Amino acid sequence: MPSAPQNAPARLDTGADDRSVAMVDAVREWFRDAGRDLPWRGRSTPWGVLVSEVMLQQTPVVRVEPVWHAWMERWPTPADLAAATQADAIRAWGRLGYPRRAKRLWECAVAIVERHDGSVPSDLEQLRALPGVGDYTAAAVVSFAFHGRALVLDTNVRRVIGRAWRGEPLPAAHQTVGERAHALSLVPADDAGAAEWAVASMELGALVCTARVARCDACPLASSCAWFQAGCPGLEDAPRRTQPWHGTDRQVRGRIMALLRAASSPLNISGHAALADVEPGQLDRCLDGLLADGLATRDEATGRCSL
Ligand code: SF4
Repeated sequence: MPSAPQNAPARLDTGADDRSVAMVDAVREWFRDAGRDLPWRGRSTPWGVLVSEVMLQQTPVVRVEPVWHAWMERWPTPADLAAATQADAIRAWGRLGYPRRAKRLWECAVAIVERHDGSVPSDLEQLRALPGVGDYTAAAVVSFAFHGRALVLDTNVRRVIGRAWRGEPLPAAHQTVGERAHALSLVPADDAGAAEWAVASMELGALVCTARVARCDACPLASSCAWFQAGCPGLEDAPRRTQPWHGTDRQVRGRIMALLRAASSPLNISGHAALADVEPGQLDRCLDGLLADGLATRDEATGRCSL
């Protein structure tokens, strides 16, 4: 049972019509029974919520959970992480992918210590000003950590709103002003209600109304969903933004980072046997990228690299 705010359903004073009010309330009610009891929900600190949001940006829950536990045990506060090295953070990131996030999270911890005395701020603008914290993450922290009213619009929420309200199979690549305004009009006016809608709509998109499968028979919106009522048209024609993986620069960067994380001394990446199958131009490009991003360093005298 999730521990989001359990207040009575709030009436909206945001311009939403009665149908929208009923749909929002239905999703909130569904969540109280069906939402997952994830460790960063309700019983974590604002720092724990912030760490979870950064980890979850591009990595599924099942892979994040063990790393999040280990991370929070080792660095339970921003000050603890700020006292570690950037290389420690990148090493602890393990195989979550997109290790730039580890670097930014470490920089974020340092900034929280310097600017906010070690406490994660609850103000949207102060959050947005932190390294690696964009609109979505700032709103998520306001909502999930401080139970404030914010527009939390990730891809899951966009998909649910797009299907249920507008009959669209999948969200467009980029948010529009109109889409954000519509989503904002659905957010309950009270803080606790808004926070519950945020986590509930996200959960519905993660568990029921997924990109690949819509489990409409288990959905609290089935009777009012525009897309379901229209017969779920257009999904097969919708462009899918799946990214290739094998042989990509992203995969090669990941392989280099795995070697550097495991190494006890600096490595010769260009001549490493484990990377012999990578075309030299691609290997150089990927290594240069990691060096430019500050995720790896190279001793210019020896040419050897480390975190
Ligand atoms: S009824 Fe189906 S398509 Fe509509 S929101 Fe629910 S799961 Fe998604």
